[in-house]
Amino acid sequence: MSHENLSRRNLLKGALLAVAAAPAATLMSREAAAANPLVDPADAQAKALGYVADETKVDAKANPTHKPGQHCGNCIQYTGKPGDAQGGCNLFPGKDVKAGGWCKVWVQKPGSKVG
Ligand code: SF4
Repeated sequence: MSHENLSRRNLLKGALLAVAAAPAATLMSREAAAANPLVDPADAQAKALGYVADETKVDAKANPTHKPGQHCGNCIQYTGKPGDAQGGCNLFPGKDVKAGGWCKVWVQKPGSKVG
């Protein structure tokens, strides 16, 4: 095998690896930018649902159904990963809620703990 054939083969290998690595790099950069903007508690929908970013600050008089320990992270509508500080909510497409947040339609996620 000639020296020219070897370097052509190496060149082709390098090109194939670069092509294969490109989608992986794109995926990784997309994941890094995956965090959605947070829901603003002052938004009309958030206000209507009584959303707060910190469930310990829920107005108990206005929300008598709230119990300490209920938060977005253990709500059935939450789509974030356990342990993450924020994640998606089915009620706010394209936005994230704080895992420690809460709103009036909170329903316990099956298998989750409250408190
Ligand atoms: S529906 Fe659940 S996850 Fe969404 S904001 Fe309300 S309490 Fe949080």
